[in-house]
Amino acid sequence: MDDFNTKNVLILGGSRGIGAAIVRRFSAGGGEVAFTYAGSKQAAEDLAAETGASAIRTDSADRSELIATVADRGPLDVIVIAAGSLVLGDPLELEADAIDHMIDVNVRAPYHAAVEAARRMNDNGRIIVIGSVNGDRMPFAGGAAYALTKSAMQGMVRGLARDLGDRGITVNSIQPGPTDSDMNPADGPMAETMHSFMAIKRHATPDEIAELTAYIAGPHGAMITGSLQTIDGGFGA
Ligand code: NDP
Repeated sequence: MDDFNTKNVLILGGSRGIGAAIVRRFSAGGGEVAFTYAGSKQAAEDLAAETGASAIRTDSADRSELIATVADRGPLDVIVIAAGSLVLGDPLELEADAIDHMIDVNVRAPYHAAVEAARRMNDNGRIIVIGSVNGDRMPFAGGAAYALTKSAMQGMVRGLARDLGDRGITVNSIQPGPTDSDMNPADGPMAETMHSFMAIKRHATPDEIAELTAYIAGPHGAMITGSLQTIDGGFGA
């Protein structure tokens, strides 16, 4: 597998979960891969040792730090923005600071990282954000703010696709449904409820999300832009 041979790839939020599967997939494809992490230093170091990718500590909530990290990687061929956080609960009870931090990581950071990447991106580059089917459908209480962040991604990719299309750069959102990770374990307390909304009643694996990401980033994805690629077992159907 050498579909990303010599490609300069940056993955934001690669230490765990979906991002880590994407790091593995692009590394296996021969890419020059770097990834960021915030709190999971040991996991990041272990993944770097396993894959040969470079681990860079960068908190997506720190705009200056984030922009500097993206700029330092030079002309990228692919940026995947997987870093994200999830705050669920009664909106009347949740702390405003926790909501604003989620908006910083899930909305502000993807926008600024995507734009910074675009400044020096190679022609025919790929900008991919990991959104969520919850940008389309929020079928349970307590998810208003999280859904807000994932709907925001939809507008961003549509707009940036138009801004960058003349350079052959594509901009897309991958929208997973329930996917087995620390954020949403397949055996977690919400699993049964989530499966009840699905046609295929199981969590996806992070590898399944990574494989779709690789397709969108690869040569066959050149005409896919401004799109929402939902991979959710029918959660949103
Ligand atoms: P995990 O909680 O398992 O992993 C989150 C990853 O994001 C970690 O690598 C974490 O790094 C990184 N991250 C979080 N905050 C920051 C930050 N401030 N700066 C840098 N990195 C950060 O989540 P998932 O893998 O499940 O989720 C990945 C993305 O997929 C998210 O955007 C999520 O919203 C989305 N998603 C997930 C679904 C699911 O069911 N799992 C469904 C739909 C969408 P570290 O640990 O080092 O802080």
